[in-house]
Amino acid sequence: MKALPRIAKVALDLPDIGQNEGFDYQIPDALIEHLRPGSWVVVPWIRTRRVGLVVAVLAQSELAPERLKPVQSLINDAPAPDAQWFRLLRFAAAYYHRSLGEVALPALPKLFRTPPSAKKTDGSDRESIFARSRRRYPGTRVKAGGDQKPTLTARQAEVIACLPLTGPFKVQLLYGVTGSGKTEIYLRWIAAHLARTPLAQALLLVPEINLTPQLLQRVTERFAGASVAVLHSDLPDARRAADWLAAAEGRARIVIGTRLSILAPLPNLAAIVVDEEHDPSYKQQDGVRYSARDLAIMRAQQANIPVLLASATPSLETWHAAQRGRYVMQAIEERATGAQLPLIRLVNTRKLEMRHSLSEPAIEAIRAAVARGEQALVFINRRGYSPVLSCEACGWTSQCENCSAHRVLHRRAQASTLGAALAIGNRRTLFRLVCHHCSAEQAVPRACPTCGNVDLKPLGRGTQRLEEGLAELFPGARIVRLDRDVARRRNAAQAILDAAQAGEIDILVGTQMLAKGHDFGGLAVVIVVDPDNGLYAADFRAPERLFSTLMQVAGRAGRSSLQKARAEVIIQTRYPDHPLFEALIRHDFRGFAASQLNERQQAGLPPFVHQALLRAEASDLAQAIAWLGAARQLAREGPLAGEALRADAVTLFDPVPLALVRVADVERAQLLLESRSRKALHQFLDGWLPLLKSAKPASASLRWQLEVDPIEI
Ligand code: ADP
Ligand code: ZN
Ligand code: ZN
Repeated sequence: MKALPRIAKVALDLPDIGQNEGFDYQIPDALIEHLRPGSWVVVPWIRTRRVGLVVAVLAQSELAPERLKPVQSLINDAPAPDAQWFRLLRFAAAYYHRSLGEVALPALPKLFRTPPSAKKTDGSDRESIFARSRRRYPGTRVKAGGDQKPTLTARQAEVIACLPLTGPFKVQLLYGVTGSGKTEIYLRWIAAHLARTPLAQALLLVPEINLTPQLLQRVTERFAGASVAVLHSDLPDARRAADWLAAAEGRARIVIGTRLSILAPLPNLAAIVVDEEHDPSYKQQDGVRYSARDLAIMRAQQANIPVLLASATPSLETWHAAQRGRYVMQAIEERATGAQLPLIRLVNTRKLEMRHSLSEPAIEAIRAAVARGEQALVFINRRGYSPVLSCEACGWTSQCENCSAHRVLHRRAQASTLGAALAIGNRRTLFRLVCHHCSAEQAVPRACPTCGNVDLKPLGRGTQRLEEGLAELFPGARIVRLDRDVARRRNAAQAILDAAQAGEIDILVGTQMLAKGHDFGGLAVVIVVDPDNGLYAADFRAPERLFSTLMQVAGRAGRSSLQKARAEVIIQTRYPDHPLFEALIRHDFRGFAASQLNERQQAGLPPFVHQALLRAEASDLAQAIAWLGAARQLAREGPLAGEALRADAVTLFDPVPLALVRVADVERAQLLLESRSRKALHQFLDGWLPLLKSAKPASASLRWQLEVDPIEI
């Protein structure tokens, strides 16, 4: 006779405890008939309660019965997650070397991962959070009729004909220059899936929804009458819960979301699109550091469905796979509207006089565009007023007390842009010094803290100072800034982007946010101020990122065929002869990618090798380094790990401090691991991590974490 299942293994958002997938709990008699893998439960944890997912029910535990606490309650009407979702979670947990719960639970909407109140009044027929969320979801959001489908260009039609609607799984890369009509292609492809299978769901991943309100609008209009779910972390909790549940229960046919939506259950998933697949925001940067693009590929493979990656500047990993035939590539080299790509010019800032950081050709181009009734965009990759406040008399700078970085001078939100001619000291109260790493803020000192000099000077410029300079150069022009400070206000980004699209803005100034996929018909001139940091940065991915950002920002220009002159991009640089710029002015992504891949191959860098990073942080750098050194030593002891080392399959580099070593009074170091074989790397990690988990750190302040496939080194 089989023993009754008495034990539930429950995945919780906690680091794992060895090989197990969850924590063992006793199943109370009343629940024995009801608990199964996939059940949502509330369990006690230390002095709190937590929501967990049952991953298995077992006859017995390896732990003594008296050490086990009982499951507190079953959450009755939660969706029953399907086997496919569990397979994805298991893969992600194994690949990123985290517990199942650490992957699964943070991806749930907050309302669902918060335990329901314990002291429910008796006749507890109060509607559950799930029932309420089901009721809240409106089904369809938009009435049909708002959308006008363009007639496809010949090339668009050819590409669509090549895109598969069923497995076998194969990654499709849609590589098309900016404005080539990629969005139109994948919208039609999604529509074809939905038309073909009555219940099919499609997932559209986008980097940042708040920055692409036009895309969201286009999708909802295009699929008017169908049910769309939107998933991202800035949604109000109730809305996010309602949409997530509609996706998880198959009621939403189209799910558009940011990286976290790749972890949503989607029972009838038939197709995945990853728009702007190169975008670094697909990488989660805390907790489990997953890549939503990579998980999208894995999810498609598990489900045997097609996945489409779209970009004008694919990541070199993706590009390399396409070159070698692992992915299928469709290319579009011209714009859908017939508009020409913009003319890109380089301006040598060493040779020219600058006014407010702008060269004469740049000022002239802006003036001409505004005079024609068209728009200009000024791009600088730095927010705030000025990156450093300094004293010329003694060399004091606005160093952050807690971090190895400068505090950045910020003009306060309500301060007007007038008065640029005044020294900082005279309008001191309009500014704050803010650390971009620990967020500490302080007032601008009345005088230099070391020598008493009252004439403190801002060094360099960010978006706010550029905005101020533009206001002086172009009085009367409608100038609007967009950066993360502005976007923090709810709906501010959307309002600005809408205004830009409606032609109500003459000059837009801002950061990368302006580069993201926007389609402003009247934008004729783009000025790039000081992109040179990316040319000689330490991270080997810096040139790739710079090229892609510049291509994207340049690609905002001249998208409409109605413009009066050929659109123009002016890049102000100290290195106009740099090969990166030479490729850029030819719009030559292929050439750039080939030369970068060549360099990466010579240097033994990804995608030719696979990497992982072990990071340690402590109150003192020496402790972090010492712990990493000890971790390296331990590698020789684990049988699996030691073998990989002896076979030279995995290389462990020396522990080094991070470039930005101190943040919020914590000092950080890292150890890089590398292997030509992904499999060898993961086998090594499987052998090594248990040793690290059981090793006792010398210092209580020490924290460590592993990152697989890091994108910043
Ligand atoms: P991408 O995603 O490649 O940057 P979009 O899909 O946003 O390009 O298209 C760029 C512009 O071209 C948009 O304004 C879009 O409406 C327009 N467009 C796309 N396809 C066509 C077409 N077949 N005919 C006319 N205009 C088109
Ligand atoms: Zn001084
Ligand atoms: Zn700081």
